[in-house]
Amino acid sequence: MMNLKVTIQQDDHTYQLGSFVEEKTIKRGDTFIRLLRRLQIDDPELIKFLSLKKVARELKLRAGDSIRAYINPQGTVNKILLIGQSGKVMSVIKNDSGFEIKPVLLENRLLFGSGTIQSSLYRALDENGIADELGSEIAEILASEIDFNRDIRSGARFSIVYSANFFDNNYISSGKIQALKFINDGREYKAFLFEDDATKQSGYYKENGENIKNAFLRSPLKFSRVTSGFSKRRLHPVLRKWRAHKGIDYGAPIGTPIMAVSKGAVRYIGTKGAYGRFIELRHKNGVSTRYAHLSKYAKKLKKGSKVEQGQIIGYVGKSGMATGPHLHYEFLMNGRQVDPSKAVTPPGPPITPERQEEFKLKTAATKSMLLRLDAFPTE
Ligand SMILES: [Zn+2]
Repeated sequence: MMNLKVTIQQDDHTYQLGSFVEEKTIKRGDTFIRLLRRLQIDDPELIKFLSLKKVARELKLRAGDSIRAYINPQGTVNKILLIGQSGKVMSVIKNDSGFEIKPVLLENRLLFGSGTIQSSLYRALDENGIADELGSEIAEILASEIDFNRDIRSGARFSIVYSANFFDNNYISSGKIQALKFINDGREYKAFLFEDDATKQSGYYKENGENIKNAFLRSPLKFSRVTSGFSKRRLHPVLRKWRAHKGIDYGAPIGTPIMAVSKGAVRYIGTKGAYGRFIELRHKNGVSTRYAHLSKYAKKLKKGSKVEQGQIIGYVGKSGMATGPHLHYEFLMNGRQVDPSKAVTPPGPPITPERQEEFKLKTAATKSMLLRLDAFPTE
C-alpha cells in the first residue's frame, strides 16, 4: 500500500529535518554576497568559500534560477542548491574540511494529488500542496476541451499523477504530468502522457488512444481576451465605417508570444498593408491561419518553415492599421474566412494501431493510480 498523502515542501520558509529552508530567485546582477544577505545568512566560512575565484568559475548565477539554502538553527549553512530553470542543479555541501561543489543527480519520483476547485485552479493546487506550475500544464493539456479562462465551474475536481525531481529526499521541481482526470460541469476528461520511444514525440491521449488535443488550438494566445469577435458587420475602429470583421481580435500586451494553432508551414511572412507585420500558415485539408499586427517574428522563421502546434511564431504588436496592441487572427477554409469558434476541426493524430499495445502497457500504472485517487482522495 502506498502512502497516499502527498506533502511537498515548497514554501519560502519552512522547518525541515532540523534545518530551515530558505529559497530566493536570482535577479540580474546578483552576487553570492547579496544573495546570502537576502537569505539572511551570516556564515563567514561560507562567504569566504563563495568568494573564491574557482567557485565563481564553477557556479554561475543566472537570473531566473533559484538558490535554496538549508540553514542550521545556529545560522550556519549545511547545504546550498543552485536550481537552474534548465533543470540543472548544483550543490555546495559542507564537509569536514569546509565546503565542496557537486553537480546534483536528481531522482525522479511519481507524485499524485487531487483537489476540488472552489475559486481557482491555482488556489486548489496550492491548498493541496501541488506546485502551481502544474496548473498551466493542466490547462494546456485540456485546452481543446476546456477554456480555463471561462469554463471552469466551482466544484470541479481534478486528480493528477506527475513526475517530480528530488535530491536528498528534498523536493526540487515538478516534471511532466503523467496522467490526469478532470471533472467539470458534469463532464469527465482523462488524459495520459505517451512518449514514442522511436520518434521521441510525446503527447496526451484519451484512454482509447484518441488525441486529447484538437489538431487546432482554440486560441493562438495562452491567456487571451477576445476584444472583437467574428462578425459580418461592425464599425471599423480606425476607418469609422461599417465593415465585416473576418477575424478575431485578442487584446494582449506588446510582446505576448503567439503560437501556431496547428502543425503547418509558413506560406507568407512579412509586412502586408493594413495587416502590418503578418504571418500566414498553411495547414492540412485546405485550412490556413493568419496572424496580423505583430511586433516581431520568431527568430529564423521564414517562408516555407515547418511549424508545430503551439510553436511560437511571433509576438503581439500594433503594426499596420491598429488602434492598440492586439492580435488579429483569421481562420480560412479553402481561402475564405470562417468563424474559428464554429469551425469543426479534427482531433490531433491518435495512437497508431501498432502502438496501441505499448500505450496500454505504459499507461497501466498511472491509470491504476488515478483509480486509487478516486478511492482515497488526498484532500
Ligand atoms: Zn481584427
